[in-house]
Amino acid sequence: MGINTQAYKAIRDEIAATNTTLVAVSKTKPATDIEALYHLGQRDFGENYVQELVDKQGALPDDIRWHFIGHLQSNKVKYIAPFVHLIHGVDSFKLLTEINKQAQKNNRIIDCLLQIHIAKEETKFGFNEAELATAMADLPNAGLNNIVIKGFMGMASFTSDTTVIAAEFTYLNNLYQHYQLAPNTDNYKPSILSMGMSSDYALAIAHGSNMIRVGSLLFGERNYTK
Ligand SMILES: *Cc1c(COP(=O)(O)O)cnc(C)c1O
Repeated sequence: MGINTQAYKAIRDEIAATNTTLVAVSKTKPATDIEALYHLGQRDFGENYVQELVDKQGALPDDIRWHFIGHLQSNKVKYIAPFVHLIHGVDSFKLLTEINKQAQKNNRIIDCLLQIHIAKEETKFGFNEAELATAMADLPNAGLNNIVIKGFMGMASFTSDTTVIAAEFTYLNNLYQHYQLAPNTDNYKPSILSMGMSSDYALAIAHGSNMIRVGSLLFGERNYTK
């Protein structure tokens, strides 16, 4: 059905005064929709599926910054390592090690966000607080010279209760602030807190987010069945 130009401009105006990056989440949407937004000036796009991302990257302009925001399996890192701009959903040290290995093979440094589990749903991915503490302690000495952790990413519970969502955003922002105090090393340079989607991006920004991932508001509802 095409993109929602009005919503796009409204969001851009809304975040212009803030230090927020808009990632347009284009999963399941055709390349023509991405091109339409590209022509309005959008450069950051987010995808969830490796094959779909590889196909779109090959077909679309080279100056698009591709964000991988889905659940990434270790055996698929190699397909996106040559070009990916930022991997949001790093949820294990094993995955981080594999990203480092593939980055090295491509002579690149790949920026990553650690995904933190903030929602009620067990099905969502991410580090819990204890696992995060271990990972952060291991990071400086792991020899991962081809990745940089740029911050954290989280997904709030699937609920319309904004009190619950706000509490989860606050929790993640507190963790992010806490680890801001950790010494910056070559592979830990925190500047990004990725949280907020179509339904809760304004709330996320109010709670410290500086990178929002917005899909359906820009591209319309997704249809997974066709
Ligand atoms: C699909 C997706 C989004 C975008 O969701 P909308 O509700 O369509 O804005 C954001 N983040 C992640 C991780 C997603 O998988």
